[in-house]
Amino acid sequence: MPTSTPVATTPAPTTTSWEPFRLLLEAQREDCLRQRDLALTETAVSHPDPVAVTRAAALASRVPEIDAALERIAAGTYGRCFSCGNEIPAERLEFRPYAGSCVACPTPVV
Ligand SMILES: [Zn+2]
Repeated sequence: MPTSTPVATTPAPTTTSWEPFRLLLEAQREDCLRQRDLALTETAVSHPDPVAVTRAAALASRVPEIDAALERIAAGTYGRCFSCGNEIPAERLEFRPYAGSCVACPTPVV
């Protein structure tokens, strides 16, 4: 008799509703790394384009921001301004899902 082993789909403990943002952040992270690689390729030529150099640096610094946001989701502190503690408006998170502060508070340079 055929035994169909049920695949144990362990549902992630999503106690929050940040799952779409988590997926968005992971997609952006992938995208960031890909674009950074492209920019780095451009900087590898004999006359590096300063725009590409700046771009590669900006993309490289974006990844830790995204990682930090993913950590905040895991820690349950995502969506809250680390400076004033207020909730970050959803429309801001949709635009910058890695944002750690609200619009009123300055974003610290990582
Ligand atoms: Zn704030």
